[in-house]
Amino acid sequence: VQRVKYQQRDNPASEGRLTELFRVLTGSTVASGVVLGIGDDCAIVRPRGSPDDLLLTSDLLIENVHFRLSTHRPEDIGWKALARGLSDIASMGGQPRWCLLSLAVKTGCGERWIDAFYRGFLELARRERTALVGGDLARADKIVCDIMVCGAAPRGKALRRDGAHTGDVIYVSGLLGGSALGLSKGATRTARRRHLRPEPRLSLGRFLRQRATAAMDLSDGLSLDLHRLALASGLAAEITAPPQFPGATRDQALNGGEDYELLFTAPLSRRLPAEFEGVPITRIGMMRKGRAGAVTLDGAPLDPLGYDHFRNICC
Ligand SMILES: [Mg+2]
Repeated sequence: VQRVKYQQRDNPASEGRLTELFRVLTGSTVASGVVLGIGDDCAIVRPRGSPDDLLLTSDLLIENVHFRLSTHRPEDIGWKALARGLSDIASMGGQPRWCLLSLAVKTGCGERWIDAFYRGFLELARRERTALVGGDLARADKIVCDIMVCGAAPRGKALRRDGAHTGDVIYVSGLLGGSALGLSKGATRTARRRHLRPEPRLSLGRFLRQRATAAMDLSDGLSLDLHRLALASGLAAEITAPPQFPGATRDQALNGGEDYELLFTAPLSRRLPAEFEGVPITRIGMMRKGRAGAVTLDGAPLDPLGYDHFRNICC
């Protein structure tokens, strides 16, 4: 996993830049039924007359960017393709309902590979009661999975990144850095499993719907993702070291990606359990007034290091 300092200004695909581009090209980002557009884990749309809002998310999983055939079995790639989308639904407190999967495979990926891929994918889909309702299949020079998931949350109740208030406590679920550790040579089986079979925190997300003020999933590393949550909420964040996965370094816990745990905020007065279904819930800091998006760790500025796909693009 490459680490770079996150610089929104220099990023040709930053959410802010694309939102602005779409606004200019379409004349407006306000379309019928759109409650929340680009910039959160999911878009929120409101079908007329429905008691539920729909949550929409899509994700790419690309060979040699997100996985390698030498280290990832097809079952694990299928699982992970869906887990990434489900984690975005979890972060907004939603219930996943339907998904679409487009898959490009390369020559050499035969029937056995494809069957195993779908076995992993459908194992998670069945468990989380998410129906695969369509997609596409093609040949390409590398494997590409494009997943789209649609979930639902009661009208107006989906969790968002922009809801944190000054004085809210910052929490994370689970232990961080396990996925980054799982990629390293000689990693333990449990760490490797953390990387290969991430667990979307769907029931925790729904539990938090009535309790948290803001939430997102940790896909790119705590330092970068907390920066994004703080930026969306227009606040600064102060934290201490997060809970570390056994064997993970402090750097992996702060900047390693793909843990797919939940990062959320709640009022100081709200009592939350120390664990939920066996997953620890840890208080790591507090939201403060200050420069929007600024994060400090033990009082010192914490750079938003994390994964940025566009650091070398100059076009
Ligand atoms: Mg996300």
